[in-house]
Amino acid sequence: MKLHEYQSKKLFAEYGVPIPKGEIATTPAEAKAIAEELGGRVVVKSQVLVGGRGKAGGIKLANSPSEAEALAEHILGLEIKGLPVRKVLIDEAADIQKEIYLGITNDRAAKKPVFMASAAGGVDIEEVAAKTPEKIIRIHIDPLLGLQDFQVLNLAVGIEIPREQWGQFNKVAHGLWQSYKNFDATLAEINPLIITGDGQLIAVDGKMIVDDNALFRHKDLESQRDLDVEESSETEAKDHDLTYIKLDGQIGCMVNGAGLAMATMDIINYFGGEPANFLDIGGGANEEKVAAALRIILKDPNVKAVLFNIFGGITRGDLVAKGILAALKEVKPDVPMVVRLVGTNAEEGRALLADADMITAETLADAAEKAVAAAKGDM
Ligand code: GDP
Ligand code: MN
Repeated sequence: MKLHEYQSKKLFAEYGVPIPKGEIATTPAEAKAIAEELGGRVVVKSQVLVGGRGKAGGIKLANSPSEAEALAEHILGLEIKGLPVRKVLIDEAADIQKEIYLGITNDRAAKKPVFMASAAGGVDIEEVAAKTPEKIIRIHIDPLLGLQDFQVLNLAVGIEIPREQWGQFNKVAHGLWQSYKNFDATLAEINPLIITGDGQLIAVDGKMIVDDNALFRHKDLESQRDLDVEESSETEAKDHDLTYIKLDGQIGCMVNGAGLAMATMDIINYFGGEPANFLDIGGGANEEKVAAALRIILKDPNVKAVLFNIFGGITRGDLVAKGILAALKEVKPDVPMVVRLVGTNAEEGRALLADADMITAETLADAAEKAVAAAKGDM
């Protein structure tokens, strides 16, 4: 789950990271009122869950409340990288002398979180990472020990934070780490952390991605989920307790078990196709779940064939078959469907499906080959 800038910054602030004063507006009039309240210059910032808003025209400085109103009207009418802007953050404008990049993410290879920092922060950080990666320094954090002061000092020296700001930097670095750790984040980022003309460190941008698998520990965050902008099929899947990830291929996959789902995707690749999704209907999948899963798969216009690969262990083949039949009645697919059903009550399941208009397969290879052919219109 991605958090908006304003949500991330509020969270960072709870851990002691200084952020600008600001409020959220959904209308130009609200934006004006907030700007009046703040007094002086403000920055009007689109709240959409993509990076590079500045370059896309979604961040603008306003010199007066009426200018803030006009800019808010303009920005609230924008679409940034395909996402409509529904909210703007009105922040006190900052006097920026220097822009620093700070980010924590998981380094899977090192099996540890990694703290990244660069003196070349700001809107061009991707270019810095690509062309001059040596300008980004990295320090791994031992998850048991946590971020250590000597490590923060190494970071501060590495990105040439003036000595007078080391105390402030220490607070920001620990605040970012605490946010990352306590919210089970996979990314916590401040870009830029600025140094102002009078030597203050302020986080003017913030970004957090919280691991969806840990959301049950953060019920308060779940209510902040922005349903507008999440892939709606993934949201629907979540509501049905299905693990679904949308991909770009043509073959919809309905599989029980994550390992089997991955193997199915691999073998589809092997036969020259591309999976349209990862989907694990889980053990003990019932009729309702199967129907929901099929509905979700068929919503994707790229899907040209569906492959059911069910290994009945806990999941009973006859129940899955009933689920498929119920779903077929409801969604009436117009793409070919290949089914491979083995294991517990597979016989009964196959008998139930005998009259449905489906291509049957014995082995996984057979099923994948048939699904690839069917998606190409060769069956
Ligand atoms: P992003 O483009 O989505 O990363 O959005 P940011 O919030 O990082 O804003 C982009 C850029 O706008 C920053 O790198 C700053 O250069 C500039 N910016 C953001 N807030 C302020 C501000 O309060 N004052 C000034 N002068 N510039 C700002
Ligand atoms: Mn930014």
